[in-house]
Amino acid sequence: MCEFLTNLLKPKETASTTTTNTSTTEVDVVDIVDTGSTETAQTESNENTMEEKQDRTEFEKQIADYASELEKGKVRKLVEIAVHCTATKEGVEVTMEDIDKWHKARGFNKQKLSGHYCGYHYVIALDGTIMFGRYLSETGAHVKDHNSKSIGVCYVGGLDENGKAKDTRTDEQKDTLAWVISKLKSTFKIDKVQGHRDYSPDTDGNGVVDSYEWIKECPCFDAIPEYKNV
Ligand SMILES: [Zn+2]
Repeated sequence: MCEFLTNLLKPKETASTTTTNTSTTEVDVVDIVDTGSTETAQTESNENTMEEKQDRTEFEKQIADYASELEKGKVRKLVEIAVHCTATKEGVEVTMEDIDKWHKARGFNKQKLSGHYCGYHYVIALDGTIMFGRYLSETGAHVKDHNSKSIGVCYVGGLDENGKAKDTRTDEQKDTLAWVISKLKSTFKIDKVQGHRDYSPDTDGNGVVDSYEWIKECPCFDAIPEYKNV
């Protein structure tokens, strides 16, 4: 067969799939996932500025709508924010499609309204863009026993190149995380913001979840003081 025809008949998938399997790390036994394909992660840099503005506008609209439903008593009250990481390696982009795939594979249900499997409500990409997962009206799946009244906010990253826990947040991610959490806190009058690891049991009962008590390291930084006053 001539090369032209062969090429025409080839399946349309591109290149090889890069797999970064992080499943051996203990950063986050709940969130841990195979990072799967990274080839869809590239975003045209010249689109970023516009997308960034659009995502923030969309975010503000969504939370305003939810607040209005809340006033009418139509939706559940949200009392805490849990911060997560995707437990993927520094600099590796992750898309909402990736997370949907991982969480679908873990048996999470497809949400009727948003159409997402993703257990988080918001995921912050490396460039600081807000990616939308479940709607706030849809109960998250991100902290065992704390999903019914919490909001799940996640950033892409959390592991160094060897798969060890690391605060890999880019400046853009830090900026967006603080902005998103500040908006959520003020809109829903939420005081409690903590990392996933801070939900570990306080085994010695001293009132603080110490580092030796963490059953996971997610989100790989101390979210409590960081977002106390945003
Ligand atoms: Zn987590």
